[in-house]
Amino acid sequence: MGVVREPMDDREMTQGAAVHDVQEIFSGASIAQADYHRIMDRLPTGVLLHRQGVILYANPVMVNILGLERPADCLYKPLLNYFQPESWKRIEQAVEAMGNEESGGIPGEVILIRSDDKEATLETITAQVDLAEGALFCTVAQDISQRKQNEDRIRHQANYDNLTGLPNRMLFMDRLQREVVRATRQQHRVALMFIDLDRFKWVNDTLGHAAGDELLREVSTRLQGCLRKSDTVARMGGDEFTAILPDMARGPFAERVASEVLGQLVAPFTLCGQEVMISGSIGIAIYPDDAASMDELLRNADIAMYRAKSAGRNGYRFFTPDMHAEAQQRMELEKDLHYVLERQELVIHYQPIVDLNTRQVMGAECLLRWIHPKRGFISPALFIPMAEEIGMISKITEWTIRTACAQAAQWRRRPGCAHFFVSVNLSCTRCRDLSVGDNMPKIFQQTGLPADGLVLEITENILSEDANRALQMLNQLVQMGVNLWLDDFGTGHSSLSVLKRLPVSGIKIDRSFVPSALSDPETVVLVEAILSLARSLDREVIGEGIEAEAQAEFLSARSCRFGQGYLFLKPEPAEEFVKVLG
Ligand code: C2E
Ligand code: MG
Ligand code: MG
Repeated sequence: MGVVREPMDDREMTQGAAVHDVQEIFSGASIAQADYHRIMDRLPTGVLLHRQGVILYANPVMVNILGLERPADCLYKPLLNYFQPESWKRIEQAVEAMGNEESGGIPGEVILIRSDDKEATLETITAQVDLAEGALFCTVAQDISQRKQNEDRIRHQANYDNLTGLPNRMLFMDRLQREVVRATRQQHRVALMFIDLDRFKWVNDTLGHAAGDELLREVSTRLQGCLRKSDTVARMGGDEFTAILPDMARGPFAERVASEVLGQLVAPFTLCGQEVMISGSIGIAIYPDDAASMDELLRNADIAMYRAKSAGRNGYRFFTPDMHAEAQQRMELEKDLHYVLERQELVIHYQPIVDLNTRQVMGAECLLRWIHPKRGFISPALFIPMAEEIGMISKITEWTIRTACAQAAQWRRRPGCAHFFVSVNLSCTRCRDLSVGDNMPKIFQQTGLPADGLVLEITENILSEDANRALQMLNQLVQMGVNLWLDDFGTGHSSLSVLKRLPVSGIKIDRSFVPSALSDPETVVLVEAILSLARSLDREVIGEGIEAEAQAEFLSARSCRFGQGYLFLKPEPAEEFVKVLG
């Protein structure tokens, strides 16, 4: 029986007129001809017969998949009325190439465009049947749109950050890998940017996670605004973002983007109704100039970012080779710093604090020294910030306070030293974890030093983050009887207002003012202003960095009570220091 070429009406269809071809395909003798039609109707999968791109038959499931009501709606219509052409072309070619001799069919996926313009994906298997009139294609099809959607959703989940919608670390790595390969092939350069927010933790801690999330979302929008479509901005996790700038033309392009990003980050954010200021630090490394591989590129951008951060934040740095050696050394030092207490490599040096009138030693500032077995002496200016970063500062501070208190208790037993005190520098991050007050009663009890034998030196930065909590902790210390001094006074911004808020009994004039106080008239005015301010607020003043007799006299004449500096003694280990106690 030949192919029916005339359009049929519904009645004819349902009476099986279109099943002619099917009957030809299934020419089994044991099934009655009329039953083929019923079998096709009941097949739980879509069946489509077509020849030269024209639909010859669709079973009810297929009609349904096509979004039609009746079989006649698609009969003798071109496939391309319903499907995207490319996928069909591929399938037909593959089927024709295979010919008729093999069993099975060619699997494929075709995109169906329904009359409402919605797309669906069909999973198909197509085989060719050679009939007298020519070859016929037989396709079974299943609508897998739902599964596809789920797959897409899972793929999206795996590749994109939930909070910001930006590509996540996984997709970022994938894209970077691709850009590096492309750059190698096309001799392009790719810039990689590491962007780290400077005050994210503070926002999260003080304004809550909702504000933190809002900040990250807003930051990601602003970052995207700074970049081209071909660039990739990704969130690596936490407050770390990255940007890939492919096809980077030579010249200051990356620099321009970095400046723009920084500008966007310092513009105020409104989070949960509150205005918040943050900033960012950016490290940039360029492939292939700065790195031979993707891993190296990542590492070097990170190193450069780190440098930008330690150089005072809100800035960007391009990677340079010397950063590498430095980072290496730093990493080793950081590793060693973890063991500094158990290996007993920390030593306290004591520097006398003298009464400028009587020149009597009243107490001592405790200044830490790290005696590294290989590198020798390491300055606190280097390892204290490092200890803050790796979370060692709490342990180190506690050790310092405990050791200093024990030492002071011992020295207090000497004649004339009953009121001797030690001052210990308190790191700002140490204050922020706020446990410093909790251990103090135990330390005083164990060492036998009364609380008034200890001074803690703080800096005004202590108020720059969570001021209320810091003040609470400081007041707790003061109530215990501990004295607080404000260190490095005069180097900050908001000195007067800060001074009024902090429960400090003394202020230390920063050592950078003292040597020049005599020669520079402006500094003279400033130092005099600090002294009169302290007097009016009833605060003690300690002059730091006194190296010459004239400086001591200058301060003393303006009723600065205490002084400290090389003139009296450099910071020395306990066994040397004790000699000045007489
Ligand atoms: P700081 O608290 O301002 O300490 C005073 C610094 O001035 C010390 O430097 C001291 O050696 C130096 N100095 C003293 N007299 C003179 C002088 O006459 N002329 C000059 N030019 N300098 C003088 P050092 O020991 O290098 O300490 C540097 C900083 O490291 C300290 O500044 C302090 O902020 C920090 N630091 C030291 N020990 C500790 C500690 O145990 N904990 C914390 N958090 N910071 C510490
Ligand atoms: Mg100090
Ligand atoms: Mg100081």
